[in-house]
Amino acid sequence: MSQTGSDGRHPVVLDTDTAADDCFALLACLLHPAADLKAVTVVAGNVGFEQQLQNALITIEQSGRGGEVPVYAGCTESLLRGWTSAEYVHGDGKGRHQWPVPRQEPEPEHAVHALLRLAQEYRGRLDLVCIGPLTNVAAALVLDRDLPRKIRSLYVMGGSNNGRGNITPAAEYNFYVDPEAARAVLRAGFSLTIVDWVLTLRQAVFTAEQLEEISALDTRLSRFFTIVNAPTLEFDRSVGIDGSTHPDLLTALALLEPGIVARTGRYFVDVETTDGETRGYSVFDWGVFGREANADVVEEIDKKAFYGTVLDLLRTDFKEA
Ligand code: CA
Repeated sequence: MSQTGSDGRHPVVLDTDTAADDCFALLACLLHPAADLKAVTVVAGNVGFEQQLQNALITIEQSGRGGEVPVYAGCTESLLRGWTSAEYVHGDGKGRHQWPVPRQEPEPEHAVHALLRLAQEYRGRLDLVCIGPLTNVAAALVLDRDLPRKIRSLYVMGGSNNGRGNITPAAEYNFYVDPEAARAVLRAGFSLTIVDWVLTLRQAVFTAEQLEEISALDTRLSRFFTIVNAPTLEFDRSVGIDGSTHPDLLTALALLEPGIVARTGRYFVDVETTDGETRGYSVFDWGVFGREANADVVEEIDKKAFYGTVLDLLRTDFKEA
């Protein structure tokens, strides 16, 4: 797992299709003492692109860190396939709530350029957490084939480890939306850790009782969590999940709080890029077919540590500026 820098904090970039659980992963990167969040790079995914930018800015403002972490707009469509919305899951990604208009605005620099610049500036020390489709990272790879050697560790939420999908029976959303980008990133030689959808369903679901406990904290951040989480919770329940799913939050905390990760396995992971029923299907080869592993895949977490860390983060309170 990642070591910390001399000040005890990791330089981190969060690449996100900011809606709902992405906002909570962003909160973790803003508030966790191990994270020195250098940038938020936004990629086409869950909800409309402008809405995603606003959701990132709202989250930063609501965390009490408005103006401190720059937000960059990245690729507004996948490499080859346009945009696939998940608004039916997340609504507008901010709980359909009218939050105060953030004072901060997106930066003029393109997210891909910002990522390349920061990878150079913090060469060998930068951790990259990707919780949306991998379009921005694939575009960055086209411009700098040395990127995998500049990034210390890449954490990706994507795929489904020999299990069901969530956007189609075969595919998890992030890999489905831009399978060519996912394939390029998986094959590029990053020091890669994956949090997948199967693990999420098994271990990263907050129950009604836990959500009640979060709500009862009654801090500004717990209220933010409860409001923003509501549409996803409603959707998750409608498809038979007993609570709300937090794959992105888990991915960020797997980096920032390594004790949460109880077990990983080495896998060769690849993505199906054909059209049809298996578009975006992720192959997780567990090592008996002679292919060299390219990823550590999280297989077990300490659920108590995960939830406890989230409670601690949401317990943080502060005065409005
Ligand atoms: Ca996401």
